[in-house]
Amino acid sequence: MATTLPDNASLEQDLVVAQAAVTKQGDTVRSLKASLKEKKADKAQVEAAIEQLKNLKASLDLKQKEFQSASGKTSSTNREAFRDAVKTVLERRLFYIPSFEIYGSVAGFYDYGPPGCALKQNFTQFWRQHFVLEESMLEVECPAVTPEVVLKASGHVDRFTDLMVTDVVTGDCHRADHLLEAALQALLDGKPKPLDTQERQAVHHLLATVEELNVKQLGDALEQYGVKAPETNNDISRPFPFNLMFKTSIGPRGDQVGYLRPETAQGIFVNFRHLLYSNGGKLPFAAAQIGQSFRNEISPRAGLLRVREFTQAEIEHFCNPDAKDHPKFQSIAREQPLLFSRALQMSEEKQPQAMQLGDAVSQSIIANQTLAYFIGRTYLFLLRVGINPKRLRFRQHLANEMAHYAEDCWDAEVECSYGWVECVGLADRSAYDLRAHATKSKTDMSAYEPFPDGSRMVDVLVAAVDKREVGKTYKKDGKAITEALESLPEEEKACMQADLAAGKPCKVTVGDAEFAITAAMVQIKQEKKKLTGRNFVPSVIEPSFGVGRIIYCMFEHCYATRKGDEKRSLFHFKPIVAPVKATVFPLFAQPTFIDQAQAVAALLTAAGLSTIVDSTGASIGKRYARTDEIGVPFAVTVDHQTLEDSTVTVRDRDSTTQVRVPIAEVQALLTELVKGRTWESMQQQYPTHASAADDN
Ligand code: AMP
Repeated sequence: MATTLPDNASLEQDLVVAQAAVTKQGDTVRSLKASLKEKKADKAQVEAAIEQLKNLKASLDLKQKEFQSASGKTSSTNREAFRDAVKTVLERRLFYIPSFEIYGSVAGFYDYGPPGCALKQNFTQFWRQHFVLEESMLEVECPAVTPEVVLKASGHVDRFTDLMVTDVVTGDCHRADHLLEAALQALLDGKPKPLDTQERQAVHHLLATVEELNVKQLGDALEQYGVKAPETNNDISRPFPFNLMFKTSIGPRGDQVGYLRPETAQGIFVNFRHLLYSNGGKLPFAAAQIGQSFRNEISPRAGLLRVREFTQAEIEHFCNPDAKDHPKFQSIAREQPLLFSRALQMSEEKQPQAMQLGDAVSQSIIANQTLAYFIGRTYLFLLRVGINPKRLRFRQHLANEMAHYAEDCWDAEVECSYGWVECVGLADRSAYDLRAHATKSKTDMSAYEPFPDGSRMVDVLVAAVDKREVGKTYKKDGKAITEALESLPEEEKACMQADLAAGKPCKVTVGDAEFAITAAMVQIKQEKKKLTGRNFVPSVIEPSFGVGRIIYCMFEHCYATRKGDEKRSLFHFKPIVAPVKATVFPLFAQPTFIDQAQAVAALLTAAGLSTIVDSTGASIGKRYARTDEIGVPFAVTVDHQTLEDSTVTVRDRDSTTQVRVPIAEVQALLTELVKGRTWESMQQQYPTHASAADDN
């Protein structure tokens, strides 16, 4: 392997990890020395720790040099060259294709061609295995077309917007934050002229906070820096919100408004009651959905990274808000992903740190075990599909990035030639979504849990309604209003109690109508009641995966060229996601060899292993190169010896080494390899087959 993306960030993170190891070992040495004085440690222990510290320092030194030399070399130009090289192979081998190409294409839509489609299927299948089956999740499939009321309740109709500006001459639309970011980046790069230190600091600060600007602040900043429309250099309008949902109408009369869903999650929330019932009324449980989501992005760009239709894989884990521990937390507690916490983002160094998830929870860096559990499982998943762990970090949302109801949010960000890209969002959304649907649909979205210690005397809020007073004002609606007041959820009663006491206006909703409530109509009182359990609206912890984004990053992380032959590119796809698991080659394009190759391929296909037979007359070396290029992990060759002793050779794409295996065993062997058995263990079991140099 020779070429991969010039990997500065990865080196930088190696450096951070090495620095942390030196600091930790320094602490160990100091504490051992102290123990030596108190005779609680012996000299040999201290010497061994010092020796280890020296080794760690030497390794840090090496990494520092490596980083310094790479910093000088990495530039946006070779990032782009790398991206072009990957894209050329992806498009030529039909991993993906711009949609509707013969009609000139439409930005933001891509088709997956045969290898891309197969890889995506394998990816989602493995996602199911890793999450849905592992956690016994309840999987659902809901329509993409969604009636307005659902997305009104979720807040998407009113708030799912990006800020847009238009070119005042051509009317072209641009994302306001992207224009500002590009302009600020150009200033930092010294265009049109170098900035002084103070200006530089101001631009840096603004660039880091673009996402937090409100519409006025963003407009002012665009004006302050004289930002113009790209390409035309025309003036731009003030920014204004643009809703990203595709609107449609449902039914032939065209009077029922619908939208293509912008996320799959809402389908799960609206089914909560059914799902809870099918789980025996018990919490916690998780539901999952894989499906298409649609966002009418203002300026789709960066290939598969920002598109208008994409596959999402989402999980909603419902739990008791007071019990967010996870029974399987220990299984991931020692995993050490790079965590870029809020504190680290605000620090001078602004570097993520490798940290055990157990420590992150005990130090309250991650809000709770369940959120950390899903961060851990996501980390393992991304590694297993081929994401480079050094170019993967979990970034915590800053307090002002999070929705007001969210308790804690982290994004799995992967570094690729476009920079750090959010691939998975992991959020503790409290009870917001279920509450929103409960209020709008007037459906009970609560769960019941019995007290583990039997019954308890509990303080409850009771609405004592003065029916005469209500009836006097609202006549025939009085009865429904009384019922609505009496059945208000506990938190709403508490709010009403506080508001009435403060003389603030209060209202209650009945059907689509709202009625003003005064202190004369209702008194909210605290009473003691004997209860055997309690009702509550569950909290939701949501990991949300963008399938296309992860796949694109995987493409970049798995791309390489063969050592000594930069023109021979290959993808080191993990066998579990590789589009084709094995290519079968007849060594010669003669019927005896071809028939035998077809028979071996049939065996593999019968075991569910996707296989292609390459019986073209090209040299075996050329044929290997062709299948390497689409990342086929194993090649099976039918040669002269096959005809004598019914054995074939199996070649491993990454090491290019080969072993000789009886045909009778090849099906089981490849199945195991795809499931994760190592090639090294195969080499111990089967004789090596020495190949001619150009065969590789
Ligand atoms: P969000 O609901 O915005 O947090 O998105 C959830 C996930 O969907 C993100 O982490 C992305 O991986 C993915 N995603 C969001 N928008 C797009 C898009 N326009 N194109 C591709 N993937 C997207």
